Amino acid sequence: MPDERKRILILGGTVEARNLANTLVSRGRHDVITSFAGATTTRKAPKGEIHVGGFGGTEGLRTFIERERIDLVADTTHPFAARISANAAAASHAAGIACFRLDRPPWEPQPGDDWRFVADIDACVEAIPAGANVFVTVGRQEIGAFFARDDIRVVARMIEPPALEVPAHAELVLARPPFSLDEERALIDDKKIDLLVSKNSGGESTRTKLTAARELGLPVIMIERPAKPATVAASCVEDIITLIDRHFA
Ligand code: NAP
Repeated sequence: MPDERKRILILGGTVEARNLANTLVSRGRHDVITSFAGATTTRKAPKGEIHVGGFGGTEGLRTFIERERIDLVADTTHPFAARISANAAAASHAAGIACFRLDRPPWEPQPGDDWRFVADIDACVEAIPAGANVFVTVGRQEIGAFFARDDIRVVARMIEPPALEVPAHAELVLARPPFSLDEERALIDDKKIDLLVSKNSGGESTRTKLTAARELGLPVIMIERPAKPATVAASCVEDIITLIDRHFA
């Protein structure tokens, strides 16, 4: 009789990755390894095995899949983590196993929103008018381009401080989502913010800043998502579990 127990590699770094790992481990049918890039030093570890650090590109990930006898890759990385998703699709294909992605739906503007869409970080930085007092929520990896604009004031929120020096015209707010609507209103008010910059990450834990911006009549520069590979995708944890169950049925 074939071995029914499978080994699933979850590419993590999101709340969905943790929920998926916890659910799969609790059900007990399969072994689960969750991998983190290792960009942050503080994280809530999910149930199951943990792998921290990059694999070394597509070839490295393929080697890991084969060495660890992985049967399926669940790509539950952030919508803006384009490289690891491309690597996951290519490495899984090369190793002859399935790769399913979880694509959380992007945010859509509501009546009363004043959003301007831009293609990427560079276009976003260019679109900020001189003299603006901007609340930037892109994370620490891409904050340098905003710090380089010394004709704007930057309030930059991130989980851990960036590697680079914070210039005099910028201020860090170190905090981990979720954020309540009251917290977002208070921050925008306290810091006298007149423009919000956000990636179109989707999800609930950071949506409240957009509600606060709408209520306060604040314009938003919304950075569009990078392209992801054409792997089979689900939009929530329940749906990717269904894909996994069907695959192993
Ligand atoms: P990325 O540009 O797509 O990936 C850069 C490299 O980091 C990858 O080539 C890979 O290194 C390694 N890596 C990324 N995710 C990994 C994972 N889950 N496990 C092991 N290695 C991983 O990704 P990123 O935008 O830097 O994001 C890094 C991580 O932070 C991702 O896991 C993502 O889910 C999470 N995150 C990103 C954002 C964002 O806005 N980008 C926001 C929240 C969370 P090798 O090539 O050496 O394998």
